[in-house]
Amino acid sequence: MTDLWRGRLEGMPIDPPADPGGRVVVLSAHPDDEVLAVGGWLSEQTHREVVFVTATDGEASHPGSPTITPDELRARRPGELLAALRCLGFEQPDVRRLRLPDGGLDAARDELRRLVEPVLRDASLVLAPFAHDGHPDHDALGQVVAEVCPPTAVLWQMPIWTWAWTVPADQEWMASVRRLECTSRGRHRKRQAMAAFGTQVRALSPHPADTAVVDEALQRHASLAPEAVVA
Ligand SMILES: [Zn+2]
Repeated sequence: MTDLWRGRLEGMPIDPPADPGGRVVVLSAHPDDEVLAVGGWLSEQTHREVVFVTATDGEASHPGSPTITPDELRARRPGELLAALRCLGFEQPDVRRLRLPDGGLDAARDELRRLVEPVLRDASLVLAPFAHDGHPDHDALGQVVAEVCPPTAVLWQMPIWTWAWTVPADQEWMASVRRLECTSRGRHRKRQAMAAFGTQVRALSPHPADTAVVDEALQRHASLAPEAVVA
C-alpha cells in the first residue's frame, strides 16, 4: 500500500499549501508522528519558532513485551524525540508533553481540548495528525485540533498510518493532499532523525511482542516518499 502511495505522491507536482510564516505548532499523538510525517520539511524550519506538542509519551507501543515496560517507554520515548529533533537541526527543541494516556486520547477529548487550546492561541501554522488517519489516538487529536484551531491559523493535517493502511482511491480528501517541498538535506536529516527512535524502528528482541512498531514498509515510505499534508 505504501508503494502505491509513494508512486501517487511522486506523480504529484510540488504544491505546498500557503504558509503564513510566524509561529508553528506541531502536535503529535506519539513522539515520532511528526518526524515520520514531515521531518524533512521540519528540518528547513529551524529559523522560526516551532513548538512541538506530544499528547502522550507513547508508553503503550509494546503491549506484552518481555523486554520493555510502559514505564520504561514513558521514560525513553520523550528523549528519543529530543534526539530526533536535534538531528533535524533544532538545537533546543521546545517540546510540551501533555502526558495523556497512550491509547486513551479518544476517551480524554475534553482534557485534550483544554490542554491544546492555549498552545494554539498564537499559532500561525498548525500541524496535527490527519483526522481520519485510522489510528484512534491520531484521529482523536486530529479532530480536536480541527475543532479548536483558531480561525486566524492555517491547519495542515499530517497523514501517517494512512499511507500504510489505505490505497490511493477516490477518497474525498484526495483532492486536498498537497505535496511539500523536501530538499536532499532535509531527507538526509529525516533519516537520521528516524533512527533516533530506537524503541520504534528496530525490533527489541526476537519475541513477537517486540517487533518494530514502525514497520519496514512505513519506514521505507517515510524515508523515500515525498512528504504531503492534507490542507
Ligand atoms: Zn502515532
